[in-house]
Amino acid sequence: MAFDASTMLTLTIALAAAAALYLAVEWRSVRESSLLCWSASFATISVGSSLALLRGSGYLFTGIWFANGMLVAAHWLFLLGVSRFTETRLSRLCYLAPLAWLSLLLLPQWPTWSKTFLVANSLLVAAFTLYASALLRPHGKSFSVGAVQLRCILLLHGLFYLAKTLPALLPGTLIDLSAFRGQIIQVSLVEGAMAIMLIALSMTGTVRYRREERIERLAARDPLTALYNRRALEVRAASLFNEVSPANPGALLLIDIDHFKLVNDLHGHAAGDRLLVALSEMIRTMLPERAIAARLGGDEFVILLAGASREGIQRLAEALRQQFQATAEQSFRTPEAVTLSIGANLFDRPPASLAALIEQGDVLLYASKRSGRNSLQLVDGLRG
Ligand code: GH3
Ligand code: MG
Repeated sequence: MAFDASTMLTLTIALAAAAALYLAVEWRSVRESSLLCWSASFATISVGSSLALLRGSGYLFTGIWFANGMLVAAHWLFLLGVSRFTETRLSRLCYLAPLAWLSLLLLPQWPTWSKTFLVANSLLVAAFTLYASALLRPHGKSFSVGAVQLRCILLLHGLFYLAKTLPALLPGTLIDLSAFRGQIIQVSLVEGAMAIMLIALSMTGTVRYRREERIERLAARDPLTALYNRRALEVRAASLFNEVSPANPGALLLIDIDHFKLVNDLHGHAAGDRLLVALSEMIRTMLPERAIAARLGGDEFVILLAGASREGIQRLAEALRQQFQATAEQSFRTPEAVTLSIGANLFDRPPASLAALIEQGDVLLYASKRSGRNSLQLVDGLRG
């Protein structure tokens, strides 16, 4: 092979140190504890590989056994990072495994001790890695592409270490591990260097993707009610408008609370907030399929839907009005009834823009306010 063991080890030291530094810098801006665990893990590999270079100078305890131990510790830190990332608790066994490894190192040596020790090392590395890969399995929470890549790489890495133990574990095997040591070490080093690069890349990808997703989610939602905000509604409205046709009419309902200021003034801003949240919950539970709800600001909400009909809109508006009035009456005494005014328009062609549609809704809403509030004003724009 073109690269001897010490060249490969030097390469591994450099790669692992670069990955540790890269993840530490990433951690400084993201502050995800998983990144810190992974950075520490790569730093451990870098130190362990530096110690492994001492093999050539005859320092066998440090160069082989201690260096191998650092490899086990590094994989344990990988696993800890994955458990932090997936917000899962590790089994207690995982905390005992490093102690078991240490006691094996300190035991008096028997004839096949070195072989047993190497097998135990590989098994621990395989167990930690496969466990980490299993934690990244999608269960309920959907993980990103980066997480899927990381899971696959960890799975392959774990299987490689498992395969490394097989020749020694098979009973009556003719394969003597020591006869293959040279090649096994070289293949391991190449696999290790590749794994470092791939794992470090997919780790940063995974964390970045999740951070972007979080930022996107926060930017799209109204913080009080967790409904979409106006900007997010605009983004989603475009695809809903494309579906609209005479066979599949669309509708917009603009909803405003009547005399909401009374709740704020007489019962406090926090009470007003609670009523806004209660209304958003009602909207959420009554929302038809393929509909989008958003809070435009203040006490104004919007529902945009496809597959709408005059009767469907009337039913929805009536149910919302009645439930809201009952909740407001039960919760807050006010000189004027706190109710809902709704302006709604039905359309069978994609409208010029969402803003134009909201403007029409606003006119209808205003008409409801003028005619005594607590009502639905509906314009049926369907032809035929
Ligand atoms: P109308 O019947 O004509 O709709 O009058 P209104 O009393 O409901 O008042 P209006 O809709 O004109 O104004 C909404 C008020 O909602 C104004 C503001 O003080 C209050 N508001 C806006 N945002 C929030 C919020 O996040 N929380 C609370 N508690 N109040 C808010
Ligand atoms: Mg109002």
